[in-house]
Formats: sequence, structure tokens, C-alpha cells
Amino acid sequence: MIELKSYLQGKWQSGGGVPVELFDPATGRPVARTSTAGLDLVGALNYARTVGNPALRQMSFAARAELLGAVSKALREAREQLLDLSVATSGTTRSDAKFDVDGAIGTLAYYADLGAELGDRSIFVDGDAEKLARSPRFCGYHIKSALTGVALHINAFNFPAWGMAEKAACALLAGMPVISKPATSTALVAFRAMEAIVQSGALPAGAWQFIAGPVGDLVSALDSQDVLAFTGSAATARKLRTSTNVIERSVRLNVEADSINAAVLAPAVTDDSYQMFLRDTVREMTQKAGQKCTATRRLFVPADQLERVQSDLCERLAQIVIGEPSAEQTRLGPLATRAQLDEAHRQLKLLRDEGAKLVFGDPERVTLESGDAAAGCYFGPLLLRLDDPQNAQHVHQVEVFGPVATLMPYTGVEQAVALVARGGGGLVASLYSDDPAFSSAALLGLAPHHGRVFFGSAKVADVATTPGMVLPGSVHGGPGRAGGGEELGGLRGLDLYLQRTVLQGDRAVIERALGLR
Ligand code: NAP
Repeated sequence: MIELKSYLQGKWQSGGGVPVELFDPATGRPVARTSTAGLDLVGALNYARTVGNPALRQMSFAARAELLGAVSKALREAREQLLDLSVATSGTTRSDAKFDVDGAIGTLAYYADLGAELGDRSIFVDGDAEKLARSPRFCGYHIKSALTGVALHINAFNFPAWGMAEKAACALLAGMPVISKPATSTALVAFRAMEAIVQSGALPAGAWQFIAGPVGDLVSALDSQDVLAFTGSAATARKLRTSTNVIERSVRLNVEADSINAAVLAPAVTDDSYQMFLRDTVREMTQKAGQKCTATRRLFVPADQLERVQSDLCERLAQIVIGEPSAEQTRLGPLATRAQLDEAHRQLKLLRDEGAKLVFGDPERVTLESGDAAAGCYFGPLLLRLDDPQNAQHVHQVEVFGPVATLMPYTGVEQAVALVARGGGGLVASLYSDDPAFSSAALLGLAPHHGRVFFGSAKVADVATTPGMVLPGSVHGGPGRAGGGEELGGLRGLDLYLQRTVLQGDRAVIERALGLR
């Protein structure tokens, strides 16, 4: 069995005490163990602040970008090993593993390119001089410079490689050192990725540390120059948000939590757009076994099209091959852990108790093409139908974190927008429409409730990405229950790690300090 280690203060270290075991969810076999008991995690925070931060902040954006390029290259070289490991130990199909690992490599490379364009500067000058007095000699320059602390990144189990890389890319380019803490259940892939990163020798000491397991109450040791970026459940987010020192020291916090994402099919769509809606829906339900924060959970279709959509979706879902992640034809593997499986059953029950009818799949009996149904954490795919979404609560609030979606009718664009908004704030909503008036009203109506609105239509059907795909050039996050946070979005993603300051005074001296003259 593999023993995971943490990379702290420049050394790989093992914790003591009773280790936590990690299991392959396809077979139930233990694959690794880890412990963080007794490790000097507070020492790691200090090491990042005193060694990593000064090293990064004196580097230019271009130099930090080079570092990201080298890390991306190291992961590219380890790609096959990471994919194999992911398939063999974490229940992901090869295609789902690529989504994670290639996402990590691509996002790091994207930020390396972005940073290279920023050149020799090490801080941002935000806009032109502001005239503040009668004489232009006294002026104000806004700048953005990296905080002097450490960025603690706490990640969810579903994207061990991408989740770690996308956060780290922004922090490192901004000039802040990182401590990554993957979810313990899938930390094996993150651990191997970190091994490749450390072996590359690309990083200055203290720039990127790694904790392979629980962090206890490390959050209470964060200070006012530190950043906490969290991805995971709303329940954990609440705990972190209300941590005394996070409140008292105004520790900067970004939360990416869960989201009851919706898709809206407009009344008037061409066949190209309709096929796109079906294709995206099935993909969003089944990719990563529906364990994506951006997966579509609610499907709103015109009331008079409900039967047709149900029948077409059922036909497509019936073609999904469920089984062992390593089998070539498998499209849908197990959920990540037995705890997640139990949780999915519990949440599903809430939807069914409220009146949602199962129209595809059987939660109690999954038909596998390969693998062991009893030993593995297999679940779905399941399609539900609810005919009265206006009078329902759970369907708009409960996230079944698996391959499950609920089909519902609507009448008119206002009602569609109002129903989607019942999700209380989402990461992404998708719209499929070829009717310009409906599209305008829906896009602008959905926007305030989401970080991203994906718009599928005949004109983009053959070139568009999918709603669940998070791209580094577009913001990722959402208001309300989605956490109220924001990541990525090109250079916007760096803002979490930067302090905006206005320097007021003698223009000549300030411009010299900023390298403008
Ligand atoms: P979780 O239980 O909240 O765990 C998330 C992370 O928080 C893990 O690394 C976990 O570590 C850590 N954690 C738990 N308690 C902590 C504490 N008291 N102090 C510090 N860290 C703590 O979430 P999950 O159930 O694994 O993740 C699934 C959820 O994440 C889903 O609801 C999904 O929608 C959401 N999600 C959101 C996004 C997004 O981008 N918005 C992306 C992916 C997932 P341990 O594993 O060691 O307990």
C-alpha cells in the first residue's frame, strides 16, 4: 500500500498516529494511507511566509510564469502515470481522468503564457494617475501587489489534479506561496502530481507545500496577510467562514461551494441546438459520474416538449456503459467513496419524497457491463421528472452529487428564469435557444444569479465547449449558495492574492518607484 507524505519546509514528511486509509471505489480495496498527525503545519505556514513569499515577490511576472511553465511541463511528463493511477485507484474512467489531469496541465500553461506577456514587472499599476489637487504634481496611482503571507488552498475530492493546479497557478503568478491540501479521499493522485512538481526543481524554496490529509484547525493560524481558498461543501465553507480568526483578522477567503445548476431549453430551437442540449445534458450527468460542481442538476423544458425530451434523454442514457473504470467501453464509473454513495442515496430520497418520479435508472440496482456491483460504489445514471417545480423546494436546493438530473416543465421566459433562480445562486446556467428575443431575456435574467451563463445555439453547436467545462480564461464561481467566490477568469483570478493600494503624493517619486520613468 502506498504511504502518502506531506511536503513541508522542503522535505517529504509522514505523520504519526493511526493513518487514514484511501480506497479504490471500484473494488473497495485499500490503495494508500496517510496521516498528518504531529506534522508542524503551523511551521509550514511560517516557512511559506518567511521563505517562499520573499522569493516569489522579488521575481517578475515573467519569471513566475516560467516557473508555471516548468510545472506544467513536469505534469505533462508525468501525465500517463497520473492517468493510470487515477483510473486504477480513484474510480475515474480514462476520459474523466484526462479531464482532471489535462485540465491541470492546460491551466498552468495558460497562466504561464499570460504571465510571460506581463514581462519584467512584479506588481500591477491599475489605471492612470488620478488628479487629486490643483497641481498635477500631487496625484494618486492605484497599484495591486501580492499580500505578504501564504495562500492555503483546501480542495474538493473530485478534481485532485486540476483543483490543486488552477488555484496554485493564480497565487504563484500573483506572487504568493501556496500550501495545497487535497481532499484526503483522493489525495493519492494529488500526491503523485506534487511529487512530479517537486522533482522538477522548478520552484523556489517555500513556494509550494503540500499537506496529504486533514489539517485540523490550521485555519485558526491564518493571519491578515494570508488567503484561504476553499472548494467543497457549503457545510465546511460555513465552518471556515465563521472561524474566529477569519472574522477577526479579515483573512481573505474565497469559497467555491455546491450549486444546483440548471439548463433551459427554449421553445424555439433548431435540431442542431436540440441535439446539443441532449448531448450536453447526458455528458453533464455522466462525466466524472456527475461529481462535478458544474454538472447540470435541473432541466427546464417547455411544458409541451416534456414527453419528447424525456423519451430522447432516456434513449441516450440507455446507451451509457457503466462498469469498471479501466474497461475501454466504460462511460460511467463508481462514485468516489462509500460515504459519497450513502450521501447520494440520502439526497435522492429527499427529491423522491417531494414527488420527483424516477423515469430512468434504478438506484438500488445498477446494471454493470464489468466490475463488481457489490464491492464498488456504483450509482445511476438516474433521470427524475417533476411536473410541478413551482411548488417544490428540495429540487431547487438539494444537490445529489452523482449522475442525477430532474426534468421539469416551464411556461414562458420569466417563469424559466424565476425557476432557475430558485437555486439560490449557481456556478453555471445553460441556455439552448435559437430565438433572439427569448435568448436576450433569458441571458440577462439568468446573469445576476450565476458566475457563468453558457449559451448554446445552432451557430455555435459545432464549436462550443460544454457547460460543465471550466476554462481558465472565464471566471469560475457564483453568488449565494455557490459560495460567493470567483476564481480564474484570466488575470482576474490573481486579484484574490493582491492588495489594491492607492499611492498619493509626488508624481515623480511615485512614478520612479513604479518603474514608469
Ligand atoms: P467537504 O467535505 O467540504 O471537503 C472539502 C475539503 O475541505 C476537503 O479537502 C476536506 O478535507 C476539507 N475540510 C473538511 N473539513 C475541514 C475543516 N474543518 N478545516 C479545513 N478543511 C476541511 O466537501 P466534499 O464533500 O469532499 O466535496 C464535495 C462538494 O464540493 C460538493 O458539494 C461539490 O458541489 C463541491 N464542489 C464545488 C466545486 C466548485 O468549484 N465550486 C468544485 C468541486 C466540488 P478532508 O478530505 O481531509 O476531510
